[in-house]
Amino acid sequence: MAGGMDLLGLMKDYIVSPDRIVSIKGLDQTIAGADSGIRIGAATKIADLADNVLVRKMYPALATAAESVGTPQIRNMGTVGGNIMQRPRCWYFRNEEFNCLKKGGSRCFAVEGENQFHAIFGDGPCHIVHPSSLAVPVIAYGGKFRVAGPNGSRDIDAGEFFQMPNTNLYGESVLQPNEIVTHVILPAPGQRSAGYEVRFKQSHDWPLAAASVNLVMSGQTVKSARLVMGAVAPVPWRSQAAERVLAGKTITEAIAVEAANAALASAKPMSGNAYKIRVAKTAVKRAVLRAAGVAWS
Ligand SMILES: Cc1cc2nc3c(=O)[nH]c(=O)nc-3n(C[C@H](O)[C@H](O)[C@H](O)COP(=O)(O)OP(=O)(O)OC[C@H]3O[C@@H](n4cnc5c(N)ncnc54)[C@H](O)[C@@H]3O)c2cc1C
Ligand code: SF4
Repeated sequence: MAGGMDLLGLMKDYIVSPDRIVSIKGLDQTIAGADSGIRIGAATKIADLADNVLVRKMYPALATAAESVGTPQIRNMGTVGGNIMQRPRCWYFRNEEFNCLKKGGSRCFAVEGENQFHAIFGDGPCHIVHPSSLAVPVIAYGGKFRVAGPNGSRDIDAGEFFQMPNTNLYGESVLQPNEIVTHVILPAPGQRSAGYEVRFKQSHDWPLAAASVNLVMSGQTVKSARLVMGAVAPVPWRSQAAERVLAGKTITEAIAVEAANAALASAKPMSGNAYKIRVAKTAVKRAVLRAAGVAWS
């Protein structure tokens, strides 16, 4: 347990019943420049991440995600490592009465049930969306997670850390039970980057859709782009189709719309969440325009 914001909720809902709880609040809580990037200790509070001057200046998409997580109380208790490792919010998963596929049962209740906040990408068999807002910009910035275990420490590309349900139905990442995340490591960002989240009004709930974009520029032209969406798939969802649209272009509203259309072209909504396609397109378009400093209509 780090901040306990997720673990205690899971225990109160009888989803997990650990025999023993180990406090990992003593992990590194510092944020420091490393090479030309940054190293963030896993026990860093989300509030401290959001307020950090270096993060705000160099990694605005990460700052946007951090300052929007939950409420001030959650950001003051929740840690970066706990945010990355929090379990899915699917209401069937969180309800002890539903023994769904992810809990060892035989069916996914979201397929024929209430799926308005579920995935619009991925072929199941479980249709969660990944809950971590911070993971989205970390992948857009090409970050790594440093993990420690009995065999020492290793760095894992954040883009390869999270796993789809057809690879790992009962967990969400490659982290082994005897390993912990100790740091998030980000390389130098592109010259332009930004994030945008769409929420239900100004609620403290998780975003309906989010996007982070990181642009390497040559003057006004995009040399290369990394674009990742959140709350649309069981893992933070990178769109190379949108990245290809952006590469070699000067950002205008028309280009941002084209990138958003490309990002959502292969979405497969469930019975109750087709609205998310439009919401996610808005998130992509505004993240791209915000990164380029172009106002949107
Ligand atoms: C009302 C509400 C709104 C929220 N809104 C958002 C939101 O908009 N966006 C968002 O991203 N999150 C949101 N959250 C989730 C919140 O950010 C997380 O619950 C919190 O960050 C978890 O951090 P923690 O340190 O409290 O984790 P803990 O509860 O201590 O741990 C969570 C899980 O991660 C594991 N863990 C913790 N640290 C590590 C580590 N270093 N290495 C390996 N495993 C670890 C624990 O074993 C546990 O299984 C919301 C939560 C609530 C209650
Ligand atoms: S989406 Fe996943 S967690 Fe939710 S009911 Fe289906 S199998 Fe369970």
